[in-house]
Amino acid sequence: MGERNDSIKNHARENRAVENRFQERDQEFMRLALAEAEAAASKGEVPVGAVVVCDGEVIASAHNLRETNADPAAHAEFLALEEAAEKLERWRLSDCTVYVTLEPCAMCAGLMVNARIARCVFGASDPKAGACGTLFSLQDDERLNHAFEVRSGVLEDECRALLQNFFRERRKGR
Ligand SMILES: [Zn+2]
Repeated sequence: MGERNDSIKNHARENRAVENRFQERDQEFMRLALAEAEAAASKGEVPVGAVVVCDGEVIASAHNLRETNADPAAHAEFLALEEAAEKLERWRLSDCTVYVTLEPCAMCAGLMVNARIARCVFGASDPKAGACGTLFSLQDDERLNHAFEVRSGVLEDECRALLQNFFRERRKGR
């Protein structure tokens, strides 16, 4: 019994170590998404940034360009997914993880379903538009033909602070 308990404990420790490494990597990629969000802010765009990771490598990165492109679909993760598909020359991105500073909206979560992504990691939840757990849960709706994993709250405070500062500055400017 003692041996069994030890082995269970070792196993739990290993799992924790794997989980910790996983979380560190998530933070590392979220930092890159945050840098994209900052680039958006410097253009006067709502600061949301995203990167797409495939096989542990960033293959696409983008930030919100709705004003610049006068395009309602120019959300950070939407642009990053399109760039990833173009780079990989395929629409099916089942080996990809999307990192985005703000919870995806219905349009972007819908694109993630259509692109068959593996996973989405986001920073701040979006009470007004979030479709990965807040208003909708498109990542695991049984009626849809694809489900993906979601991890929320990675570097949440930094992601949210960037948005709050942006809106505070904008209000001051008026
Ligand atoms: Zn969106």
